[in-house]
Amino acid sequence: MTEKKTIVALSGDGIGPEIMAQALRVLKVVAEKIEFDYEVVEKAFGGAGIDQFGHPLPEETLLACQNSDAILLAAIGAPKYDNAPVRAEQGLLALRKALGLYANIRPITVHPALAHLSPLKREVVVGSDFVVVRELTGGIYFGEHTLEETSARDVNDYSAEEIRRIIRKAFEIARKRKKKVTSVDKQNVLATSKLWRKIADEVATEYPDVTLEHQLVDSCAMLMITNPKKFDVIVTENLFGDILSDEASVLPGSLGVMPSASHSETGPSLYEPIHGSAPDIAGQNIANPVSMLLSVAMLLRESFDNEVGASMIEQACDTVMNEGILTRDLGGDASTSEFVDALIKHL
Ligand code: ATP
Ligand code: MG
Repeated sequence: MTEKKTIVALSGDGIGPEIMAQALRVLKVVAEKIEFDYEVVEKAFGGAGIDQFGHPLPEETLLACQNSDAILLAAIGAPKYDNAPVRAEQGLLALRKALGLYANIRPITVHPALAHLSPLKREVVVGSDFVVVRELTGGIYFGEHTLEETSARDVNDYSAEEIRRIIRKAFEIARKRKKKVTSVDKQNVLATSKLWRKIADEVATEYPDVTLEHQLVDSCAMLMITNPKKFDVIVTENLFGDILSDEASVLPGSLGVMPSASHSETGPSLYEPIHGSAPDIAGQNIANPVSMLLSVAMLLRESFDNEVGASMIEQACDTVMNEGILTRDLGGDASTSEFVDALIKHL
């Protein structure tokens, strides 16, 4: 028996607590089947942190995260915190920074049963299966910003090392998938992109089993909607990644079915749905739990190398959706807990 793993659960705000409760229910059932020994430590974060401790990232929450093996986050933010001295969302930025979460991963798949919800034609989207890897701690977000009356300036700054580690991450991911990396830049204009492309070529020599292609960000944005099936792993800098990952999230037709992971070099990773706290539907037991459940699957796979547990959850989500048990956002009438009840039957 391996040692007990510690998972910090940050339920946060809005629909956060209800989808977290369902996720932990599913994790418990799966853990028994795969003999995964773990404990959950629940901590206040976001608006819940402001309510209890006056800060979205309370000291004890940060400490627990730093000492954990993985972190599961549901959602944070609500209108009532918009005027707080430190906003709920700033807690997440502070947590990412404190943990050094430099790689943000968003898998994009289009479920055949949901393809009619996609704004794109069925034959274009069905079969899409790619991952957007976004650099999260460098680039123009963290460069100097100068705003004057008649001019303004934002500095885009990347070191070779920052580029190398994110490109390597992309190749590692591609190696376990379809073995193709698309490195996205704007090298016809930007110096940072010229360095980006050079490093990508260098890293590619370490992975002879993986194919590297370069794509300019403008044409990548176009290809993502005209031919999304061509992609396997897309890797790009912070700003381009922000834009492309939002573009990609439109393909499946719903925010409610998309997980994400953020990784650091050696510390714990953080897993969360890509949707927000959905205050408009909070507390009604109607939120779609799939993003959250798929985030648990990513956690099992990526932090604990447990492919069996991860696929178990992913396949059960698929099966239940194929049976037509869908929450309201997907055109069905199942409640959050009814969806999960049905899913647990399939585990
Ligand atoms: P953020 O908090 O990241 O700024 P946002 O406010 O733009 O996000 P969300 O909170 O994700 O957006 O909500 C956008 C819309 O999608 C809302 O109408 C919300 O009800 C709906 N929504 C988001 N997540 C879910 C979910 N899991 N199930 C059902 N509907 C959802
Ligand atoms: Mg929101």
